[in-house]
Amino acid sequence: MAEPAADAGSIQRKLRLLMELRRAGIADARVLGAIEKTPRERFVLSAFADQAYENVALPIDHGQTISQPYVVALMTEKLELGARHKMLEIGTGSGYQTAILARLARRVFTIERHRELLRQAEGRLAELRLHNVVFRFGDGSKGWPEQVPFDRVIVTAAAAEVPPALIDGLAPGGLLVAPVGGDRRDQQLLRVRRTDNGFLTEDLGLVRFVPLVTGPPVRPEAGNA
Ligand code: SAH
Repeated sequence: MAEPAADAGSIQRKLRLLMELRRAGIADARVLGAIEKTPRERFVLSAFADQAYENVALPIDHGQTISQPYVVALMTEKLELGARHKMLEIGTGSGYQTAILARLARRVFTIERHRELLRQAEGRLAELRLHNVVFRFGDGSKGWPEQVPFDRVIVTAAAAEVPPALIDGLAPGGLLVAPVGGDRRDQQLLRVRRTDNGFLTEDLGLVRFVPLVTGPPVRPEAGNA
């Protein structure tokens, strides 16, 4: 894919978005810096490229969505990521959130159940030279048993409860951020911290995500979107 040069308009739109995120309470300069460095227009469908720096979720292939920039920023900030952290992401989707995480963590393991989305995300991250990401095609609700424990876990699709395998895979002191709620209009973003004595859960507010779907993943040849 040819690299489209960033035009003055898109730079301005990106600066406006960063200001909006700051106004909305995102204060972590590392998170804002990662967003600034990541060309969101490459992660959206070409028909929506002109909206890439609007603070909205946009459709991607297979009926999925690239999350709203504010939600990406909030979830990333709440993960309190450090450069030594090994993390797990469930729901690669476009790979946009993955790219932001890859700039802040040591290594990102990411799982997606649509093979085609995973392949596209892998290509985008390679183009951006983000090489500290390992991709897996499969059902992320089972976690990544060969790689536990994880310092940080993020889930970008909503389930009625956080899959137990993901909580079990948290390292001591680890943090997990995930949307929870079966009904699309009533999901809470939760942060779970593993402490010496158990788990602490905080509510981070209302969100709207596509559902976490368990069971066999979707191959392109299955003709199943
Ligand atoms: N962070 C992504 C969000 C994509 S939407 C982005 O900003 O682009 C959520 C993604 O989770 C979808 O691509 C969907 O296919 C995927 N997903 C849903 N259930 C899953 C599961 N059990 N395992 C892995 N991925 C899943």
